[in-house]
Amino acid sequence: MAKIGINIVTGSLQQAEVIVGIDLGTTNSLVATIHPDTKRPIALKEFDNSSLVPSIVHFDSFGNASVGEEAKKFLETEPQNTIFSAKRLMGKSYNDVKTNAGFFTYKVIDDNTDSLVKVQVGNQFYSPIDLSSYILKELKKRAEHILKTPVTKAVITVPAYFNDAQRQATRDAGKLAGLDVLRIVNEPTAAALAYGLGLEKDEEKTIAVYDLGGGTFDVSILHITSGIFEVLSTNGDTYLGGDDFDRLIIQYWLKEIGLSEEEMHGNKQLAQTLRLVAEEAKKHLSKQERFEFDLSTITNYELRITANNLLLTTYNLQLTTEKFNELIQPLIEKTINSCVNALKDADLKATDIDTIVMVGGSTRVPAVKNAVSAFFGKPVNDSVNPDEVVALGAAIQADILAGNNKDFLLLDITPLSLGLETMGGLMDVLIPRNSKIPTKVGRQYTTYQDGQSGMRISVFQGERDLVKDNRKLAEFNLTGIPGMPAGLPKVEVGFLINADGILVVTAKELRSGVQQSIEVKPQYGLTDAEVEKMLMDSITHAKDDIQTRALVEARTEGEQLLNVTEKFLTKNAGLISKEELLVTAQAMQALQLAITMEDKNLIQTKTEELNEVTRPFAERAMDEAISGAMKGQNIMG
Ligand code: AMP
Repeated sequence: MAKIGINIVTGSLQQAEVIVGIDLGTTNSLVATIHPDTKRPIALKEFDNSSLVPSIVHFDSFGNASVGEEAKKFLETEPQNTIFSAKRLMGKSYNDVKTNAGFFTYKVIDDNTDSLVKVQVGNQFYSPIDLSSYILKELKKRAEHILKTPVTKAVITVPAYFNDAQRQATRDAGKLAGLDVLRIVNEPTAAALAYGLGLEKDEEKTIAVYDLGGGTFDVSILHITSGIFEVLSTNGDTYLGGDDFDRLIIQYWLKEIGLSEEEMHGNKQLAQTLRLVAEEAKKHLSKQERFEFDLSTITNYELRITANNLLLTTYNLQLTTEKFNELIQPLIEKTINSCVNALKDADLKATDIDTIVMVGGSTRVPAVKNAVSAFFGKPVNDSVNPDEVVALGAAIQADILAGNNKDFLLLDITPLSLGLETMGGLMDVLIPRNSKIPTKVGRQYTTYQDGQSGMRISVFQGERDLVKDNRKLAEFNLTGIPGMPAGLPKVEVGFLINADGILVVTAKELRSGVQQSIEVKPQYGLTDAEVEKMLMDSITHAKDDIQTRALVEARTEGEQLLNVTEKFLTKNAGLISKEELLVTAQAMQALQLAITMEDKNLIQTKTEELNEVTRPFAERAMDEAISGAMKGQNIMG
């Protein structure tokens, strides 16, 4: 959008600011903008006529970085200093990625300082944020070169399932690359925008965005009403994509030519050639029925010698569409399974989906398109280049932010519930899972000890009733609460999730005004699989959890009553008759015993009995302020 304007005060020429849209992908990245004349989004292409910049960073022996096609050349020959898929490491701890450690050919290490991973190249250490910033710098350079104007503002897309830490990391990478990241937008939302969905005033639609890229797959269900985008659910597999199709082809060919995987890996050049030919075959088969390649025609002399020495049963690599479809069928089925789950989460049927949007290079495979269309029972939308569609949508969003388009509100959802730890280690949910964001909620809590001057605010994410089964995101202490009897302080805890999906937690004691807030940057993120596991666990344990919660609540109530009664007795000994004292002591003992026995029903009965016994004299003399403050309040340690 390089618009030229004239400053009417000075008469000088001035350029309208350029805000670009960036798709920072796992395999490829690209930058797009709105064409000043056509007003349509375009992906920016360099002289190589490709808009795609491989998301790969290579470091030479002096530590100089190269990015994109230049870096891709070293993928096979210098695997330890050629970093691909850095996006998978964004906001992750070593724990999060260790099960997939074999996937990375470079050194991923645990960084003790903030428990996030780093990548080691020689004796240099790079965070995923550093690595992503190299890619973003390259895209910025490309945009500035083509648009011939400085580019400092961008909208960057992230997968809908990215958590706070991953979104924040993406934002930080942008900052490091010299970009002011105006908005982080969900990829499916951007893809929908690129199809012009939601641009009509009274339009109401439910759409599915099916995104199968090089290494990742996800499907999102979006609801659009009058320009409001709402992600209803999201599902997928972060280790499934077109690269797996290539791998299946290679495995098939290895069998055909009589070579083991070890033999292939023992020869880096052969491995690289097979990978490239397999990808070529896959792309070819998207249009033709048959692919053939003669290994003995390899021009690379060294490779030819090796190939000839390997005594292969055949040098002819063949593949038909039929065979290819058969190879990838299980993977396609996996993606359809995710569609089933996404619909289930959104509480919808396949027939409720009005439009299906295809994203990612691998959706060019006809068998993929056919399976998705058969599942939803209607043709898919694939007219926009699936590699560019997300970046194009990001450019539209950038245009909206620049004020050149009518204003849209983009609503997203939280993948897991967010809440606080309350007495007894219970999870008190403030923002339930699948809530729309941006969102803001507040809830009041109080203290349970006289003169309590601090309150620990522990923030958790998850669906289980006990915080120990959920994931801790952050913790801080609200200090400086002036001495007051238990139950008197009013601590208002606020959860705010902004449009980027970043959570800010505030705590304020309303009587004294002391307050504290924290921007939650979780120590480590959650993988898709982990989110799914947490949800599954919550379903499996739902019955146990309800019982545990009921017990903890009964116990907390019982303990509180014991506490209050004891205090009351000490304070008001003179007001109570000997008989009253005796029955009260007995009722207290019975309640204490029930608590020790962890018998919920018994605790409730004994609590009720103690209440009955103490009610007459409590009514007589109980401190109004304390009782008033204690009633109906949430208590935290
Ligand atoms: P993306 O991550 O969206 O850039 O997708 C890249 C993936 O799409 C790679 O696995 C490519 O091999 C694959 N791809 C690109 N073009 C085609 C095509 N014509 N047919 C099949 N797969 C393709």
